[in-house]
Amino acid sequence: MKILVLNCGSASVKWGLYTDGKSVDGGLIERVTDCSQAVREVLFTADVSDVDAVGHRVVHGGLRFTAPTLIDDAVLESITRLVPLAPLHNPVNLAGIKIAREMLPGVPQVAVFDTAFHRTIPPAQAMYAIDVEVAQENGIARYGFHGTSHEYVSHRTAELLGRDPAQTNVITLHLGNGASACAVRAGRSSATSMGLTPLEGLVMGSRSGNVDPAVVFHLHRVAGMSFDAIDDLLNQRSGLKGLCGDNDMREVLRRREEGDEAAALAFDVYCDRIKMYVGAYYALLGRVDAITFTAGVGENAAPVREASLSGLEALGIVVDPARNTAAERGERIISPDGASPVVCVVPTDEELEIANQTAELLAR
Ligand code: ADP
Repeated sequence: MKILVLNCGSASVKWGLYTDGKSVDGGLIERVTDCSQAVREVLFTADVSDVDAVGHRVVHGGLRFTAPTLIDDAVLESITRLVPLAPLHNPVNLAGIKIAREMLPGVPQVAVFDTAFHRTIPPAQAMYAIDVEVAQENGIARYGFHGTSHEYVSHRTAELLGRDPAQTNVITLHLGNGASACAVRAGRSSATSMGLTPLEGLVMGSRSGNVDPAVVFHLHRVAGMSFDAIDDLLNQRSGLKGLCGDNDMREVLRRREEGDEAAALAFDVYCDRIKMYVGAYYALLGRVDAITFTAGVGENAAPVREASLSGLEALGIVVDPARNTAAERGERIISPDGASPVVCVVPTDEELEIANQTAELLAR
C-alpha cells in the first residue's frame, strides 16, 4: 500500500511517501506562508501517481475524534468548528486537505489527530476544577497534543524492551520546540501535560508552560496589557527564550557551558519542570516500566536527560553517564543494566505513524 503523508504546520510542510510501512521519499518545505501553495508543490514533486491514500496530520480533533478518520464533508466541517481551539494549526491542516482532495480526486483522505491518543485519559485527569457548566458550554477540558508521537514512542519503547505494549507503563517526554509529557498506562494515554491548548505543562522553546492563571489577570489589570499581548507573551516570548533570550536548546547548552548565568537558570527551570512531571506521573501510574525521551531536545541533549532525572535514585531512576553521552543515535537504553524503570531514547517519527494508521484504517 502506498501512502502520502502531509504534515502542514504553521510555518512548514513536512511530507513523506511510504510503501508498505517503509519510507521511500519525503521532504520539508520551510518558511511557508501559503500552505495551499506548498502542498501543490509537494503534489507536483512527489510521485503520487498511484497512491492509495493521503494521511493528514490534524492538530485538534476535540473530544469527538478518537481515532484516524476518513475525511468527508461532515468531517471537514467538524475540523473547521474546532478552529477557535487551534487557531494557528487547524486552518493550515484544512488548507492541505482541501488541496489534496482537489488534486487527487477519488483518493481516500484520512485525518490523524494529535489529540486522538489522549481520548483515553480518565475524567479525573481530563477535567479542570472549574464550574462544570461553564466548562461544558465552552469545551474547556484537557485535550492534550503530540498524541501521534507519544503513541509511536511508547509502543516502540515496549518493543525495545521486548514487552507487550498493552502491558507496559511508560512516561514519554516529547521535548521539541513544543514539549509535553505523557503517562502511558498499558499502551494508552492516561495523563498528559498539555491541556486545552499546547501552552500548558513543560517549559518550551518560546512557551511558558504552567503559570499561575492569575498572572494573566495581573498583567491585564495592573500592567494594562491586552489579552492579545499576553497571549503573545506566553506563547512567543516565554519559555527558554523568555528566560535567556534563546529558544534553541543548542544555544542554551553552549552558553551554559561558558558560564552564562541566564542560560544556566533557563536550563534549570526547564529540567526542574520535567522532573516534576516525572514524579507526578510516577505517582499516577504506580508502576513505571520505562521513561523515554524523544524529539529534538530529548533525542540530542544529554545534559537535559541527566539533569531532569538526577536525584531520583530512590524511585529506581538512574541514568548511566557513559550511555547517556555516547555518540549513538537511534533507539537506545541509557540506564544501567537491570535498572527499573529503564530509561530510553527513542527518535520519534510522526509521519511514519500517520502512514501506518492511515494504512490500518484502509485495510479495515
Ligand atoms: P519540532 O517540535 O518543531 O518538531 P524538533 O523536535 O525538531 O522540533 O526539536 C527542535 C529543537 O530541538 C530545537 O529547537 C533545538 O532546541 C533542539 N535540538 C536539536 N538538535 C539539538 C542538539 N543537538 N542538542 C540540543 N538540542 C537540540
